[in-house]
Amino acid sequence: MVSFGVDYYPEHWPRGRWPIDARMMREAGIEVVRMGEFSWAKMEPAEGEFDFAWLDGAIAVLSKEGIKVVLGTPTATPPAWIIERNPEILPLDDSGMVRGFGGRHHDCQSSETYRNHVRRIVRAMARHFRDNPDVIGWQTDNELGNSHRNLCMCDSCKKAFRHWLKRRYGTIEALNEAWGTVFWSQTYSTFEQIPVPLPTPNSHNPSLLLDWKRFCSDLIVDFQKLQIDILKEECPGRVITHNYMGFFDKTNYFDLARDLDFISHNQYPLHFRKDRLPVAPPERLAAILDLMRGIKRKPFWIMEQQGGASGWETLSSTPRPGQLRLWTYQSIAHGADTVVYFRWRTCLYGTEQYWHGILPHSGEPGRRYHEIKKTIGELAPVMERFRDCGQGAEVAMVFSYEQEWAFQVQPHHFDFDYITHLMTYYAALYRTHVPVDMISDADDFSKYKVVIAPLMFLMTPELETKLRNYAARGGHLVLTMRTGVKNWTNIVVPHTLPGPLADVVGLKIHDYDCLWGVSQAVRWQDERCVTGPEPCAKWCDLITPSSARPLAYYTMDYYKDTPAVTENAYEKGMAYYAGTELPPTVMKAFISHVLAGAGVEPIIEAAPEGVEVTRRRGTKEDYVFVLNHNGTAVDLVFPARWQVLIGRELVRTDVLHLEPYEVVVCISE
Ligand SMILES: [Zn+2]
Repeated sequence: MVSFGVDYYPEHWPRGRWPIDARMMREAGIEVVRMGEFSWAKMEPAEGEFDFAWLDGAIAVLSKEGIKVVLGTPTATPPAWIIERNPEILPLDDSGMVRGFGGRHHDCQSSETYRNHVRRIVRAMARHFRDNPDVIGWQTDNELGNSHRNLCMCDSCKKAFRHWLKRRYGTIEALNEAWGTVFWSQTYSTFEQIPVPLPTPNSHNPSLLLDWKRFCSDLIVDFQKLQIDILKEECPGRVITHNYMGFFDKTNYFDLARDLDFISHNQYPLHFRKDRLPVAPPERLAAILDLMRGIKRKPFWIMEQQGGASGWETLSSTPRPGQLRLWTYQSIAHGADTVVYFRWRTCLYGTEQYWHGILPHSGEPGRRYHEIKKTIGELAPVMERFRDCGQGAEVAMVFSYEQEWAFQVQPHHFDFDYITHLMTYYAALYRTHVPVDMISDADDFSKYKVVIAPLMFLMTPELETKLRNYAARGGHLVLTMRTGVKNWTNIVVPHTLPGPLADVVGLKIHDYDCLWGVSQAVRWQDERCVTGPEPCAKWCDLITPSSARPLAYYTMDYYKDTPAVTENAYEKGMAYYAGTELPPTVMKAFISHVLAGAGVEPIIEAAPEGVEVTRRRGTKEDYVFVLNHNGTAVDLVFPARWQVLIGRELVRTDVLHLEPYEVVVCISE
């Protein structure tokens, strides 16, 4: 059991420095190091000529300080000599251009030629380190799917896609039927006629595009499995993991986790590109962590926790004093049992020379080193208490890669985004201080009081039955706009929406309105609260209730005063329907209404804006994490049942003063 680590690149530093690094790591409380994941050229400088001596040396130096090692397979960076010999493994991007050597993942994962190179290096590594007790685990590749944009469209991938389709549909007639290829004369007479989605004069068939995304995801899962099979065969008894990237969308992470002992995740709150916020909102970070816990429904590792400013050509801001500590606690609060910081020391060269580590370029320990050392020092004695603890969530949100991909193919509205829509619900729960499990639609719903299943756009009879049964047996089910529109091959089902679930939600959708160039607003009105009107966004379902009771109304245009949000008592449970992307005040009222109806209690009634309160649930007690994400000090009214485990004393018996980015962990019986 290890709790804290760093990502280390001994190949970037002279050997004489390694013992200094290892000693400073040990002094900071580091117990594990991940390394090796980009050093293929150093491990195999020419085909079949392996050099692991340098890595043996680094492991031995770390071992002297009691530090264990997780090795990454280096398959994200095939060396130049492989590309020189086999240029056909370079990927073809979605504009039809070959992507060259020079970055990373300049490879095609369906290519048997490339796979043979992968098999050779992974087998050689696994055999070499099989008897080394300091190697406790493996990380497959690095951030699978990253750097691949829409994956590779080369001839090998085209062949693999057609093979995948043949296995899925059996006959070309079945595929034609499933995709509706009668449209625009797209009917195929053989699988060999089916294209990969390179640019066409217009748009591809949405069914082809969705299947392409599924194929790409399966290809990545298969590429990983190839490595896992070799690691298990040649180096048994070690844990195998992979470093995920939160809301990354190129791989179905539930599928990718199938063959892993546990998943790991890279958590970077600071961004350095114009298309993203400079600092991720804390509720988004929390949602990502909850999804990571939900992937295997158990605690996970952070394999890369931000350790300094990030950056390539441009830089993020530097973490403020206290933020590295705060984000470490947040990761643990949401289910990380081990936190590994990226990276130990800031590199002097290459693309990531401004991706800052705990140590600066100079290697002299500074503010970040001391903050992380202090953080580890206070957490290490109590980490065992949290191990394997979940959050005790009574509310689940269904996360579906298939639905996300379907909306990427057809977002309806220019600004529509699957994650953004889910975040409207998550943010309201987060601000209510209610823990949430992010689960897949294949998971068990029955243990939750509330299941929020947004955007169930693609529907199967099995999923319909599952949602219906959940409500019928007493669950509080939230369904939303665009439920039941399509079947699993992405063609529209000819029924009045929301289809067979109409009696569960007690309504029909007789029309809808994409809010493009038109506006709409909603007003909430239940027994406890009247709020709004406030503008809603992107889409409105026009609802005709049968048995449903309206809770919110549209306030403008020709469907003014018709229902926007409803509830319907269905058998032993309750089914809610939201016909639009709700604005924050109305969403807050909606979530409060649902939670009150289901009897879900928050961890704390109220906390200042920007203060996150969450927990891990042990067998006897809860560990409540109070996280001040504000750059300013705040006071929190402190429940008498809480006792401080880590953090400052109360200034008065009932008031906790939190400095900027400060953290307190309490025990609640
Ligand atoms: Zn390819």
